Amino acid sequence: MDCLFCKIVAGTIPSPRVYEDEDCIAIADIHPQAPTHILVIPREHISSLAEATEEDRELLGHLLWVTSQIARDKNLKNGYRTVFNSGDDGGQTVDHLHIHLLGGRSLSWPPG
Ligand code: 5GP
Ligand code: ZN
Repeated sequence: MDCLFCKIVAGTIPSPRVYEDEDCIAIADIHPQAPTHILVIPREHISSLAEATEEDRELLGHLLWVTSQIARDKNLKNGYRTVFNSGDDGGQTVDHLHIHLLGGRSLSWPPG
């Protein structure tokens, strides 16, 4: 499958990992939008949150848990934001589900 994040998970495209386990990896975003900008990516290809099925419930919880642990490791004591962009209106550009972890600066709301 021609999927950028599947290639990063497989190691075909090298990308240093800030975390990995049997279900997911985490990498620094190539175009960081905050001092800390990490992507938590399941090893399994799921196109988007909209495509997730009931079988993915445990995995989705795990991804959020891992994200919270990375935020703790990164010492984001002043807060942070977690984002799933989904589909065109959500601004998703890579069609392999991932969580953005953004921190290290004050983030505005609402998003554009
Ligand atoms: P989306 O727009 O789908 O929510 O997020 C995709 C993210 O992947 C973007 O923030 C983009 O900067 C990041 N990205 C795109 N290509 C690469 C890459 O080759 N390596 C890494 N580390 N991040 C990437
Ligand atoms: Zn994929």
